[in-house]
Amino acid sequence: MGHIPHVLVPGPWESDPLPLTADVLHHLERVLRRRPGEPVTYTDGAGTRGSGIFRGDGVERGEEQTSPRSVRRVTIAVAAPHSSDRARLIVEKLGELGVDRLMWLESEHGSPHAPRPDKARAWAVSALQQSQGDRLLEISGPVPISNLWSQGEAVCVADQSGRPVTDVGESRDVVVMIGPEGGFAAGEVPEEAIPVSLGPRILRTETAAIVAAAFFGASR
Ligand code: SAH
Repeated sequence: MGHIPHVLVPGPWESDPLPLTADVLHHLERVLRRRPGEPVTYTDGAGTRGSGIFRGDGVERGEEQTSPRSVRRVTIAVAAPHSSDRARLIVEKLGELGVDRLMWLESEHGSPHAPRPDKARAWAVSALQQSQGDRLLEISGPVPISNLWSQGEAVCVADQSGRPVTDVGESRDVVVMIGPEGGFAAGEVPEEAIPVSLGPRILRTETAAIVAAAFFGASR
């Protein structure tokens, strides 16, 4: 037997067994070839997970626990890419790395469109299940850059000539802005944004988003 599959079962959990959606059932039975009676772990995507048993069309509940919220909430705000493949890569990797939120940003050289929310959510769900996480990546936008200052977080902008990321205080919630392939346009980023560098190379948007997620995620 391979690894124990991990599935998203959105809350509130009010029954035992918990019902599984057709998508999750298909994944367990057809893709992973699991049979009733085999172990499975499950999460509500909001911090609670449990160890249970796959029972045909549901999961028999077992021991459950809720993980504490992380000290620092990490938001990666990315200029919406023109390519859907690149957008998907960003959603999947940030989902795997346990970033709290992904916001698509409106920006002059980026795309005015974000991926369809239902598609993006499905990518995030796969990433959560595959990485055995317990908090589903929240996805929103596209939002105007000026909206990033509305929630009292430290707002950083990824910029090659910025200070090393390690200089940003460790406990505050943080938003990191990542520009589009053409970079941010002159005057587009407010001066209050703290420039942080991710190294000497010019990274592509998706690489910069992943590296920023790893840096900030790993410091929690
Ligand atoms: N064409 C632009 C680069 C765009 S790269 C230029 O020549 O300046 C896309 C985005 O990735 C940038 O806007 C920036 O936010 C981020 N980025 C790329 N490399 C980076 C680095 N070394 N450090 C920090 N951010 C970086």
